[in-house]
Amino acid sequence: MEKTKPAIVYRYGQGAYVNLTNRCPTACSFCIKNRWKMDYRGNCLDLGGAEPSPADITAALSREYAAAPFREMVFCGYGEPTMRFEELKEVCRALRAGAVAGVPRDLRVRLNTNGLANLVTGRDAAAELAGLVDSVHVSLNTHDPAAWLEMMRPAPRYAENGFESVQAFIRSASAVMKETVATAVEKPGLDRERFSALARELGAEPRFRPMLEEENGG
Ligand code: SF4
Repeated sequence: MEKTKPAIVYRYGQGAYVNLTNRCPTACSFCIKNRWKMDYRGNCLDLGGAEPSPADITAALSREYAAAPFREMVFCGYGEPTMRFEELKEVCRALRAGAVAGVPRDLRVRLNTNGLANLVTGRDAAAELAGLVDSVHVSLNTHDPAAWLEMMRPAPRYAENGFESVQAFIRSASAVMKETVATAVEKPGLDRERFSALARELGAEPRFRPMLEEENGG
């Protein structure tokens, strides 16, 4: 049987979702990618190691927009988008320069992320997204460092400073983004009040999401 072609850009709601990578610094306990066999509502998100180039992505965005306009571009897949931080920025820069044929340059851009971009890049990543990304949704999930390790299951190099680094990313994002949201999966043991207090202290709006997300990833 012929293998299903992976989606580079897939549609959900009012958005066009960009499937940048399957790589991830975490193996979140609530991730649906294995249970859903790398499928998301009829879209195969398994890139099979063949990550799309920025040119592949902008071409796919143009095709999609011509077929049916979308209101938002979202970086979100079965992988952490900031693992390809330079490519992510390149796609955004092309959009803002009006170089994605047919797509308005002021289109809303959202990044769904686990917030580990500072450790991925070794830099203040959110600051570099100013003017490129409008909204960041960070999967923070808890106010508690031990619970964060248990839920996010980071690879060793992200374990020691991961939770602090995610908080620094949120704080920095909230200074430059129109919208910064800290999300928490509704799991038993979640302390909604303490989570909300931490999110607000970092400058983000707290938001709770059901275990079986209507959105995947991050
Ligand atoms: S939920 Fe997102 S960040 Fe977590 S393992 Fe799955 S793809 Fe990676």
